[in-house]
Amino acid sequence: AKRMRLDKLLANMGFGTRSEVKRAVKQGRVTVDGKTAKDFGMTLDPEAADVKFDGEAVVYRETIYVMLNKPQGVVSATEDARDRTVIDLLDPDDRILEPFPVGRLDKDTEGLLLLTNDGKLAHELLSPRKHVPKTYEAVVRGDVDADDQAAFKRGVTLDDGYETMPAELTIGDKESRPDGIHSRIRLTIREGKFHQVKRMFEAVGKQVVYLKRVSMGPLRLDESLKLGDYRPLTEAELDELL
Ligand code: URA
Repeated sequence: AKRMRLDKLLANMGFGTRSEVKRAVKQGRVTVDGKTAKDFGMTLDPEAADVKFDGEAVVYRETIYVMLNKPQGVVSATEDARDRTVIDLLDPDDRILEPFPVGRLDKDTEGLLLLTNDGKLAHELLSPRKHVPKTYEAVVRGDVDADDQAAFKRGVTLDDGYETMPAELTIGDKESRPDGIHSRIRLTIREGKFHQVKRMFEAVGKQVVYLKRVSMGPLRLDESLKLGDYRPLTEAELDELL
């Protein structure tokens, strides 16, 4: 039988952050097989143990959380008739628990994508009311300037009339390319409309030619991951996220 730490079980099943569930154990709110648990680091068989949190049964379900550095050319879906999906990038063993991508990146966008089977976490990260920040790095054709910065700070009107929320634009290096000057930028947005970054630049008359997501909420892209590679989230990352 498999063994798992009590605090990990409770946090993974959504009873709080790792530190919250440790505190709950210390406060005597958790029982294991009918007895008050004393040690949050105790290990148990999560499928067999009778764990209760404030009297509520803790039902075990295996979870998976991986960070993928999405390459261009694959779609952020679990199935697609034509294109390869981000799930096709996973080893068969890592598909067993049926992870799905949390939100979408365009086919030609690279970077941070979280894959999980934790619907509650996905919902929290994507909920429009939570305003989880997402940061992108991009190369934009044209000279991105302080006017664009001010416009993004105020909000711009997208092609469908939607007014964007305040967003932070940081302007980096300029590059001269055969088809004119290009600007490297970073943009943090707190919402996620379809093609939002590209459409925000369209709203100021500029075109995104390269786009990469580098963070979502507390998660930052591990730059040691090559495009198409992935790894499980670390304990520290899970602590921040859950
Ligand atoms: N904004 C976009 O335009 N595309 C993405 O993939 C993500 C954000």
